[in-house]
Amino acid sequence: MTVKQCRNYINGEWVDSKATQTVDVRNPATGEIIGKVPLCGPSDVDAAVQAANQAFPDWRGTPPATRARVLFRLREVLEANFEEFSRVATMEAGKTIDEARAEMRRAFDMVERACGIPGLMLGSNLEDVARGVDCVAIRQPLGVFAAINPFNFPAMVPFWFWPFAVACGNTFVLKPSEQSPLCLQRILEVIDAEGIFPPGVLNLVNGGKDAVNAILEHPVIKGVSFVGSTNVARLVYRKCGETGKRVQAFGGAKNFMVVMPDADLKMTIPALVSSVYGCAGQRCLAGSVVQTVGAIHDPFVAAMTEAAAKFKVGNGLDESVQMGPVISAAHRARVLAYIEQGIAEGADLILDGRNPKVAPGGENGYFIGPCIFDNVKPHMTIAKEEIFGPVLAIMPLDSFDEALDIMNANPYGNATSIFTSSGKAAREFTYRADASMVGVNIGLAAPMSFFPFGGAKGSFFGDLKAHGPDAIEFFTDRKVVTTRW
Ligand code: NAD
Repeated sequence: MTVKQCRNYINGEWVDSKATQTVDVRNPATGEIIGKVPLCGPSDVDAAVQAANQAFPDWRGTPPATRARVLFRLREVLEANFEEFSRVATMEAGKTIDEARAEMRRAFDMVERACGIPGLMLGSNLEDVARGVDCVAIRQPLGVFAAINPFNFPAMVPFWFWPFAVACGNTFVLKPSEQSPLCLQRILEVIDAEGIFPPGVLNLVNGGKDAVNAILEHPVIKGVSFVGSTNVARLVYRKCGETGKRVQAFGGAKNFMVVMPDADLKMTIPALVSSVYGCAGQRCLAGSVVQTVGAIHDPFVAAMTEAAAKFKVGNGLDESVQMGPVISAAHRARVLAYIEQGIAEGADLILDGRNPKVAPGGENGYFIGPCIFDNVKPHMTIAKEEIFGPVLAIMPLDSFDEALDIMNANPYGNATSIFTSSGKAAREFTYRADASMVGVNIGLAAPMSFFPFGGAKGSFFGDLKAHGPDAIEFFTDRKVVTTRW
């Protein structure tokens, strides 16, 4: 396996960073080094921002219908490389190949949606706001935007933002996660080779904290989209406030799911299994706590344990594997520490995935098998904090109200689901749940590109969310022109 040297993409050229420090990118399924990524600082970020700023006037002047045609071409080019991008995402982020394919589908879906930009960007007007005076509100792009991305969806998360931003006529700087930069690097290589955008419209700078700080402090950048852990999201939100940038900062999550006594378990179990163990629990939509209400607890625990115990764990490139590794040795240690803490605080570890059976070749991978804790109490750490691993906490409760109160007391508010045959319970749940993305008889579901995506409370800082109509609001200014002739 060759080791990929990550480079920056600035003004339509692949350039070496000025950084002296690099970090290794490892395949989490094997532990092998598959890439080296430079930790860029302010001068690299500045070069990318200057290029984007110079490209802005011409790109902005390109008619929206022409920009849409560029995106149509982009979509075809992405589609032609679907399988290769999926494999790179599997190799660097550890997900199964089917999870990576689903990620690419979602990513490309954003481009399809952004192709509708001439209609999406329409403004509004009113004749005679006063006698003989007319008013129009037009949408204008603002300039340079940037996105700072997490490791867990190396393609999809950046695509939540940049296709909409450039469709609106802005130019863009991408900062991938230093843990999984290869997929975005490869996507931009293909975009570059096909000559999709004029130089400077789309740029990429590698790095970690220093690159992020340089983005947050850069005076030319008009807005920042951040996705990652809550502490960093909070910092990004605060700094963008200080420097007067638009900001949307998506943070961590602790997602609760409620199983009512009248839930249809045949339908519930597969939905919960994929919510909890999809991407080895490394999703902001991962199901983390299941609250069972009343007598369904015992049959639920039996069925869930049986389903989870059958999971095939291994290298995601093997099509038969159902769950891949977690991202790094350090993250594996962190998840294992949560499991120890759950045991120490008195929860029952009824399915122990700490030493999973893994196919040959995975001896040095960062694997954890499906874990289930039963009899979890609301005060326990595993019931409160984001674990970001394949660990389910089952909390037996007596009432629906208790379930909602405990869930709503959690500082996060990303997503939740209820499983029930009662329309009344479902309606009440949707009405009262503090999380912003709610499922009824469906696992924690990511809203499609035409709806907004994002949470509440500690899971999201800002007001305009990802994709859907919010994207057009976030990436444009509304200029109001009042006219008397
Ligand atoms: P992370 O916060 O460690 O990193 C995210 C980005 O911030 C990376 O690009 C990283 O380089 C940068 N960064 C890290 N520490 C920084 C610091 N101290 N100062 C400035 N920048 C810093 O997150 P991660 O581990 O890559 O991703 C997992 C987290 O992302 C989880 O908490 C998960 O819930 C969250 N996430 C949320 C959503 C959502 O939609 N809410 C989606 C995906 C992931």
